[in-house]
Amino acid sequence: MSLIPTDDLIVRLRSRGLSRVALQFPAGLKREAWPVASALREAGFEVVISGDPCYGACDLDRDALALAEVLVHFGHAPVEERENVIYETVRSVIDVGALAAALPLLSGRSLGLVTTVQHVHQIDEMAAFLEEQGFRVSVAPGDGRAPLCGQVLGCNFQAARSTGAEEILYVGTGLFHPIGVQLATKARVIALDPYTGAAEEVDASRLIRRRFAVMEKARDAESIGIIVSTKSGQQRLDLARRLVLLSERAVLVTMREVCPDELLNLGFDCYVNTACPRLAYDDQVRFPAPVLSPAEFEIICGIRSFDDYIIDEFLSA
Ligand code: SF4
Repeated sequence: MSLIPTDDLIVRLRSRGLSRVALQFPAGLKREAWPVASALREAGFEVVISGDPCYGACDLDRDALALAEVLVHFGHAPVEERENVIYETVRSVIDVGALAAALPLLSGRSLGLVTTVQHVHQIDEMAAFLEEQGFRVSVAPGDGRAPLCGQVLGCNFQAARSTGAEEILYVGTGLFHPIGVQLATKARVIALDPYTGAAEEVDASRLIRRRFAVMEKARDAESIGIIVSTKSGQQRLDLARRLVLLSERAVLVTMREVCPDELLNLGFDCYVNTACPRLAYDDQVRFPAPVLSPAEFEIICGIRSFDDYIIDEFLSA
């Protein structure tokens, strides 16, 4: 029995006359692959499951799609629309009353509200709860990459910026997104985990200190690999080409999975990551050499000041 409802999906697949279906799930939902596949097989579809890692809608499995008529991508909202891809966001329902834990940490009566894709279906309910407690709440649209109102991604904080708020409440798990919100907006940010009820004020300064240490290590690099992703939704070739011109020690390197072993095998003294921005921030401890964001590389090349440090984002043109 699948935790992901399939009845409606089956109706839509049938209405389009499709019979061969590829399924793609992020790590947290991979265990749903078999129950979903089983339901589709019973309904008469030929099914193939993508077994490769998947971190976002930026990472569509084109090889699995080549074996089917349509790719059903679970767990993420679209970052790009494609006719032969169906995006099935998976909703997680929270008790909106959990937001009460954040109230003592809020300093004013006016705030912006953001969350991640699995909770965004409850954003109006969350805003109504906060308004009942006497707050003025601003929820803003994102951009093409994070298309749902109030939705932030690890690579796009436009919905937070667009609130224009000086204080922002982030509802979701983990600290990467709220730190990104703080760096992107300069606002005071409170993070609330709706499952544990833990609330805290976010402090991005530790991340910044770590990143400055990484930049210092990269300064003397004799060889610099500018990583260009081959994933459709992560490829920033124009940016990578612009960066390579900043140093005669730099060269473009294409990669599908940016992993420590492959960086070790390549043996560059330093890398600049134009693929998923989270790689440089989240995974540095696993990498054998400094991995800089584009803005960090500009800083060590002397064309951007330290005061102008920005978090790396994919923003729609
Ligand atoms: S680029 Fe990274 S943060 Fe952005 S959607 Fe893809 S996996 Fe998520």
